[in-house]
Amino acid sequence: MVKYKVTIDKDVCIGCGTCVALCDENFEMDDNGKAKVKKSVVDKPGCNENAKESCPVSCIKIEKSVEKMTATQEKYTTESLLKEYNEKKAVIKSA
Ligand code: SF4
Repeated sequence: MVKYKVTIDKDVCIGCGTCVALCDENFEMDDNGKAKVKKSVVDKPGCNENAKESCPVSCIKIEKSVEKMTATQEKYTTESLLKEYNEKKAVIKSA
């Protein structure tokens, strides 16, 4: 499942508060007057995208992050299912 990772480069942030004004559901100011995210991984970019676009020093980053597959999901990738299908087909043909 695709998720989005939101990060702020605090060394670059000037603490203007624009991100909080545009997206207070995920941005807030910390005790040092810099912005911080409430949730670093979100399902949809939503207003985080507005904050990113409006940040005057471009220190907000949004990256797509694909969740790691579970062992069961890894076992049943399309490739493995096709291989299993072909093996069973070969067995049926030879019977
Ligand atoms: S908009 Fe950018 S510079 Fe302004 S507080 Fe938010 S992260 Fe910091």
